Amino acid sequence: MTIKTRFAPSPTGYLHIGGVRTALYCWAFAKHHGGEFLLRIEDTDLERSTAESVKVILDGMQWVGLHADNADHIVYQTQNFPRYKELIQKLLNEGHAYHCYCSKEELAEMRERAEREGTATYDRRWRPEPGKTLPPIPEGREPVVRFKSQIDGITTWHDLVKGEISIPNAALDDLIIARADGSPTYNFCVVADDYDMGITHVIRGDDHVNNTPKQINIFKALGATPPAYAHLPMILNEQGKKISKRSGDTVAITEYEALGILPEALLNYLARLGWAHGDDEFFTMQQFVEWFDLAHVSSSASRMDAKKLYWINAEHIKAAANAELAGLVLPRLEQQDVAVAAGPKLEDVLALVKDRAHDLNALAAECAYFYRKGVPAEADVAKHWDAEAHARMQRFADRLAGLPEQDWTAEHIHNLFAPFCEAEGIKMGKLGMPLRLAVCGTAKTPSVDAVLALIGKAEVLRRIRESA
Ligand code: GLU
Repeated sequence: MTIKTRFAPSPTGYLHIGGVRTALYCWAFAKHHGGEFLLRIEDTDLERSTAESVKVILDGMQWVGLHADNADHIVYQTQNFPRYKELIQKLLNEGHAYHCYCSKEELAEMRERAEREGTATYDRRWRPEPGKTLPPIPEGREPVVRFKSQIDGITTWHDLVKGEISIPNAALDDLIIARADGSPTYNFCVVADDYDMGITHVIRGDDHVNNTPKQINIFKALGATPPAYAHLPMILNEQGKKISKRSGDTVAITEYEALGILPEALLNYLARLGWAHGDDEFFTMQQFVEWFDLAHVSSSASRMDAKKLYWINAEHIKAAANAELAGLVLPRLEQQDVAVAAGPKLEDVLALVKDRAHDLNALAAECAYFYRKGVPAEADVAKHWDAEAHARMQRFADRLAGLPEQDWTAEHIHNLFAPFCEAEGIKMGKLGMPLRLAVCGTAKTPSVDAVLALIGKAEVLRRIRESA
């Protein structure tokens, strides 16, 4: 049997961080078992679904690198209406579904009574039973189709995350599977597609637990074996509340991209958020696929931890190839009008600074002063810069000017430091800090000789000469 999972987002907004974790677990589970990971867009809510949101989802999946095996023929529920109709007809023909002609008023009455008496909402008025006389069909009213749910017994499944879950069938309503206008309803479409797509494992958020017994019963009525189910607990924000845009949480995947989080870091972080492999924190997706199993998914909710996310991000930045980082940092520098082409090779700069930033924006800031001098912080100026420092930097520039172009290396520059400090009667700090301020405009840089070597002789001398 080929394991098949699916990610089934509704295109009604952005791609949610929790959705990406669901997709990640679906993907990893399928890949771990040599199976398929499929994408399905649940766009039957025509009022709330938008083409723009579909694009946001597809772009987001592309960005994190979770590629669906059906990328060329993604399932869109709106394209499956004829098939839903066919399956609903099959259920009607085989006595697993029936027409119900209740009016809005009748249903409202039933709801009130159910609330009062604590029973199932629908009183099964139109449910055909042997020997039962159904009410006369009201003229001119189109019926809905209801699923003839089991009344006796219990529906049980072994949830691969939550363990055994049992629901008494009496608690399940005869749910509507087609509205009066013929359009199929949510739970039915999910089952029809999971059935047609041959999904073996439904891995999804635990906000769907209540739908599962209904879906299992529809599967059975279709004469099919239900898939296995695994319901993932929520991701909470740092305060332990449900993540929401309204509470100011970072929710959309595009926001993480803008914050300078690497996709591989985000996946690594999300992998660990609700699943563990011993004490491993930093790993590749290849390792994750190798290690992933549902048995180690936590059955309780997890909390976002921005500090940890940035820590993992920093680890991935350090581990990333300089060429890859250059591709990500370049647009960020260009956005700030930093002329990269006129300066040192960005990859060389990154090699020097990439262990100094927790995100790509901070990394871009670390690169910027290699191309244009920054504006020094007042506190640094007060501490390291005065007329004496200025005069001293001019004298050091004279020594730098004496280095032949071919000797403009970190090592040769370094070799100038000790004799200069000795001649000036100062400690190295009295040279290094003002030199950083004069050349870079910041006191926080890696080894200053290496920085100067990269910036280049002419530019270094120009910056020192022009420093005020
Ligand atoms: N479309 C549903 C959602 O976005 C997912 C349904 C499912 O996975 O069964 O929550």
